[in-house]
Amino acid sequence: MPLKTREEYIESLRGLKQKVYLFGELIENPVDHPIIRPSLNSIAMTYKLAENPEYEEIMTTKSHLTGNKINRFCNIHQSTKDLINKVKMQRLCGQKTASCFQRCVGMDAFNAVYSTSFETDLAYKTDYHERFKKYMIYVQDNDLVVDGAMTDPKGDRSLAPSKQEDLDLYLRVVERRKDGVIVRGAKAHQTGMVNSHEILVMPTVSMGPDDKDFAISFSVPTDTEGIISIYGRQSCDTRKLEKDIDIDVGNFNFGGHETLTIFNDVFVPNERIFLNGEVEFAGMLVERFAGYHRQSYGGCKVGVGDVLIGASALAAEYNGVSKASHIKDKIIEMIHLNETLYSCGIACSSEGEKTKSGNYQIDLLLANVCKQNITRFPYEISRLAEDIAGGIMVTMPSEKDFRDPNIGPYIEKYLKGVGKVKTENRMRILRLIENMTLGSAAVGYRTESMHGAGSPQAQRIMIGRQSNLKEKKKLAMNIARIEE
Ligand code: SF4
Ligand code: FE
Repeated sequence: MPLKTREEYIESLRGLKQKVYLFGELIENPVDHPIIRPSLNSIAMTYKLAENPEYEEIMTTKSHLTGNKINRFCNIHQSTKDLINKVKMQRLCGQKTASCFQRCVGMDAFNAVYSTSFETDLAYKTDYHERFKKYMIYVQDNDLVVDGAMTDPKGDRSLAPSKQEDLDLYLRVVERRKDGVIVRGAKAHQTGMVNSHEILVMPTVSMGPDDKDFAISFSVPTDTEGIISIYGRQSCDTRKLEKDIDIDVGNFNFGGHETLTIFNDVFVPNERIFLNGEVEFAGMLVERFAGYHRQSYGGCKVGVGDVLIGASALAAEYNGVSKASHIKDKIIEMIHLNETLYSCGIACSSEGEKTKSGNYQIDLLLANVCKQNITRFPYEISRLAEDIAGGIMVTMPSEKDFRDPNIGPYIEKYLKGVGKVKTENRMRILRLIENMTLGSAAVGYRTESMHGAGSPQAQRIMIGRQSNLKEKKKLAMNIARIEE
């Protein structure tokens, strides 16, 4: 089957019967809901760009399983070049949406499950890898969006899954049957769940022998009986509900979303299970998925950063300060920080290595350094953007006032910047910066930069583990002529 077009993707979602709650209501038609739709448009962009011959090399590739042309978001990376192209694709998608386009979590989960299932089979003589390959062919042939689901609610963080007072705080197997398992629990912060055809579940922490029921990885359609999603609130989300409003939303067409997704005794057939009780492989799966997703941020956040830098430069121009040396320097600083993040994404990809299963994995140390920088630089880039934009970004009157025949002319007159720029355009750029630094897109550009793919401390632990300090001490001893 050929790649899905943007329109075919949107139509395919209409066929899903997901249970989605927002503001206490079950949403009949998520596809056309004004709060949800911008997030759908962002994923739809991953289809639209794949249709464009200009982006063919970045957005598409050949399946190593079928030989068919596929969207790169469905790829099992076959080389370091693939890893690099992945980052470039994410930067491009970030540039075109200025938000989270959600499809990466599935791609990162595919690659982590692919190699981990292979190694689990080697140790246990199971057949998870073959099952997973069949699943990947289904995903690729139908050009699906898959929500990669890792984060459990986790309850008391000091206790292992099996020691929680409420065992459902980590998703677990509650019944084993001949033909499959029944699972119960929840996954939090589910990026893009409502816009996904499938959900691919993984464990969220390393596990011990008592945690067998929690060491489970599987996939099911997102509208499987027993699954419900509760849509996450975002700053300024209800602006999207205001009638005839466009400027005040900041980024009218695009956005991202997260859900709290609950599994109320959901049946998973055997052919969709990719880990089931092999606790020592839970940690490998977590580490690999996190590594891939930490690489991902070296692409997507950089693309969004490109838009924010462009918006800041325009705000400066509209204010008539673009020639001031300190403004020029601030823009250069933003570019320097953004390109440093990109360098990290490219570096961990270039240094990637083949796994036992044959797919390629990023360099874990460099991927963790990449994400650690992501927990900081977008904040500094946002600070500089707000500095350049000026206070008017947060005190400006509403679009309704601007459109009002009596009040509007005052806004037109007193919010004017340089003569040739329309007041409306100045307002548009300021609202875009507000959206990206404080509004609904700030979820993706700021707080997600902090906590997505693991909070800063998780990367520091990995950096400590991967960095080979012993070797560095040896180097120093050699130079200092110390013999011990
Ligand atoms: Fe992709 Fe970035 Fe969104 Fe993660 S945060 S799903 S890497 S766009
Ligand atoms: Fe994320």
